[in-house]
Amino acid sequence: MEQNNKPTALIMIFGATGDLAKRKLFPSLYRLFQKNSIDKFAVVGVARRPLTNQEFQENVKDSITTFTDAKENIDEFVSHFYYHSHDVSSSESYIQLKGICDRLDSHYELQGNRIFYLAMAPEFFGTIAEQVKEQGLTDTQGYKRLVIEKPFGHSFESALELNERIRTAFAEDEIYRIDHYLGKEMVQNIEVIRFANALFEPLWNSRYISNIQVTSSEILGVEERGRYYEKSGALRDMLQNHMMQMVALLAMEPPIKLTTDEIRSEKVRALRSLRPMSKEEVGNYFVRGQYDAGTVNEKEVPAYRTEPMVDPNSNTETYVAGKLMIDNFRWAGVPFYIRTGKRMDVKSTYIVVQFKDIPMNLYYKTGETLHPNLLVIHIQPDEGITLLLNAKKTGNGVKSTPIQLSYSNKGVDSLNTPEAYEKLLFDSMRGDATNFTHWDEVALSWKFVDTISEVWENTKDETFPNYPAGTTGPKCADYLLAEDGHFWWPVENLDLQDC
Ligand code: NAD
Repeated sequence: MEQNNKPTALIMIFGATGDLAKRKLFPSLYRLFQKNSIDKFAVVGVARRPLTNQEFQENVKDSITTFTDAKENIDEFVSHFYYHSHDVSSSESYIQLKGICDRLDSHYELQGNRIFYLAMAPEFFGTIAEQVKEQGLTDTQGYKRLVIEKPFGHSFESALELNERIRTAFAEDEIYRIDHYLGKEMVQNIEVIRFANALFEPLWNSRYISNIQVTSSEILGVEERGRYYEKSGALRDMLQNHMMQMVALLAMEPPIKLTTDEIRSEKVRALRSLRPMSKEEVGNYFVRGQYDAGTVNEKEVPAYRTEPMVDPNSNTETYVAGKLMIDNFRWAGVPFYIRTGKRMDVKSTYIVVQFKDIPMNLYYKTGETLHPNLLVIHIQPDEGITLLLNAKKTGNGVKSTPIQLSYSNKGVDSLNTPEAYEKLLFDSMRGDATNFTHWDEVALSWKFVDTISEVWENTKDETFPNYPAGTTGPKCADYLLAEDGHFWWPVENLDLQDC
């Protein structure tokens, strides 16, 4: 039994000397500890490098003082951290790890609850899952859960193979596949905005919505991740997981209850309704881009092809835009446009729901149009909602002008919005898998994306590089919408600060 409703866990972090552990996992655990959300826990850092427990605790201390405003209880917090120098393929190493876990389990009274957090390269995921079972680490009185980072495969086939390997040691409901977008406050808010407002839910369909746009743009380039990114590209790195998850949340039917299973099954149904494309049709629905040299924040930055560990003739896309059609009763005929890219002009993730025009415009001369009503959900770095309406222009006569109603999450909760990883780690300890991806979602999104990657890998894009760094992306992405009479709504005009 969990006491005081606080979860207990022994967390093994495989890859504990890596970037993710340092920047996200240790700081998130510290915040949970500071909020008194956890007190009975122990962490075993597992990685290749030889380190003593003290050296590892110093690393954790560095991480939390760098990435949080940690001042209190630092020593007490890091005293829960232990280290095991590990060789992923050595059975002996797992046997030693089991010994450490058993001792910590009884020392901290963790009731045998174990989380295996895989924060390392995906080629090790299968081996680790198999070894922890074979060497008895999963034979425990309490729960056992596998938390697994992206990428989950690089195609449907490889994802299936990986899934089969991890399923030998963990049941589906013990596998927590991280998509950190699902931990973001405003992504979790999509559901509430939709299902808790009489103002929106009745209009949330093809009768009233013209199109939905999901944008996730980064200013950063590929940085040091060239080797990984060359094999992944924007399609696999961003679209297959984060972008398609947001579409599923926007498109799904209301679940009958807010349980993990009900929400997931509605998301799966939305993904099953995606209009399939043949290879010949990919060009009608998807476009790709690759950044050239350009200027970002008044600094010259290099082209993708000259970045470290990138092929000088690379055919990898750093930008992707597409049109998804969801062929069900609710969404027939409504395009969901999605785009994501590196080295763009702004760092921003946001959703724009564009409503259809009203039948007749009384407020302008013939030929002029009213501004459409827009609902904008700002996901990052701003968090909030903007609603664009039309109201009377001040002064004589009756003319309309667009106005904005805005709500900023940061304004209300100040800086207390928990980090995505903090929420997801806590959820995994509490056993709430709602904001993690189910295998069925992974499988459907890979099947959809595989058609696009097969075409793109086999046809060299002769236009690459086709957008300068620091811009809004390639022109072909604008044409994609223009063909339907639409255009991308730029975030600057929809900014919370403007209101
Ligand atoms: P990293 O390269 O910084 O760290 C890798 C870790 O794995 C290190 O601790 C290293 O010691 C360990 N390791 C490597 N080979 C090993 C071996 N043979 N035996 C034992 N340990 C070994 O990687 P990272 O950036 O922390 O990413 C880890 C995972 O998280 C990857 O799957 C990545 O795609 C995913 N991820 C990372 C981020 C991020 O912000 N860094 C974000 C999302 C997902």
